[in-house]
Amino acid sequence: MDFFKPLNVDSKTEKKEIKGETEKIECLILGSGPAGYTAAIYAARAGLTPVMYQGMEPGGQLTTTTEVENFPGYPQGVTGPVMMEDLKAQAERFGSDIRWGMATSADLSSRPYKVVIDEEKLIEAETIIIATGATAKYLGLESEEKFKGAGVSACATCDGFFYKGKTVAVVGGGDTAAEEATYLAGLAQKVYLIVRKPYLRASQAMQNRVMNTPNIEVLFEHQTKEIVGNSAVNGAILLKKPGEPDEQEVKINIDGFFVAIGHKPNSDIFTPWIETDEIGYIKTIKGSTKTNLPGVFACGDVQDPIYRQAITAAGTGCMAALDAERFLKE
Ligand code: NDP
Repeated sequence: MDFFKPLNVDSKTEKKEIKGETEKIECLILGSGPAGYTAAIYAARAGLTPVMYQGMEPGGQLTTTTEVENFPGYPQGVTGPVMMEDLKAQAERFGSDIRWGMATSADLSSRPYKVVIDEEKLIEAETIIIATGATAKYLGLESEEKFKGAGVSACATCDGFFYKGKTVAVVGGGDTAAEEATYLAGLAQKVYLIVRKPYLRASQAMQNRVMNTPNIEVLFEHQTKEIVGNSAVNGAILLKKPGEPDEQEVKINIDGFFVAIGHKPNSDIFTPWIETDEIGYIKTIKGSTKTNLPGVFACGDVQDPIYRQAITAAGTGCMAALDAERFLKE
């Protein structure tokens, strides 16, 4: 993606001239999932007048989920989109300035830090709270690319509706795949769950749900070779026990193919300055949300390869706002 080009890093990097207005602020929050909104609530109550840019997916990943049953305070559960609207309203109540727009490049070489929004507006910020989350991964097949939007999706709750009474496949063995398969089983006539290992990685509760849903068939030790169709998906070619002597090619007839194989942290525009692990998760100093740059904090899924829950994201969002407040006072 073009807009992930770093700004003014060195002479080899393309320097973009930003023609729009420049705005100076104390606290910039990037991303609007539970981490970003919680940071906004705390930062606004502390008088930092935070400005939040919501990013490509306002409300974050939870807006693509159905029922959230494990967020404390909702004894009957809540849908992801409703919870995010509640968090937004709470952040706005204390004066957070929540805006549409996405950080398209950054220059974190010196303070105030510079972030470009939608390739045209320059923000100069004393502190930045990075809460940009993570994005769904795809298998990387050519046919997958070809059928994106025509039968291939990474979001069952967004696109499941189109497969009422049809047959679909979900690929992946984690909680996301298990959740998407059970959700789709309520709409589709049949769901194949394609799992590359001989077991599911999902939590026991999610595994039980999958196994107790009669119209889900789990295909263990299968990998997708190709997705097939004409103008839209009508099948997939799978390899059973790939690489083994008894490898077998299997064709399934499906109308939709849902990819649920994990996520990539959205840290690309910061990586010239911010330390990350090999996957791209931002490294924070233990017990804090501090990054290697003074005044730049990271919270939520962009820095969390382990827990990745709404409640842990919210917790680190709170920490980031407190860290930013202390930094500005010092
Ligand atoms: P995970 O990383 O947990 O699982 C990814 C799955 O995709 C694994 O089974 C992995 O296989 C499989 N996979 C990865 N690459 C490929 C590939 N190229 N081909 C085939 N399969 C592949 O990601 P999730 O998105 O499921 O979960 C992320 C985190 O979010 C987890 O911590 C999870 O617990 C949490 N979560 C919690 C929910 C809840 O509490 N309601 C709901 C959803 C997620 P393998 O096992 O072989 O590595």
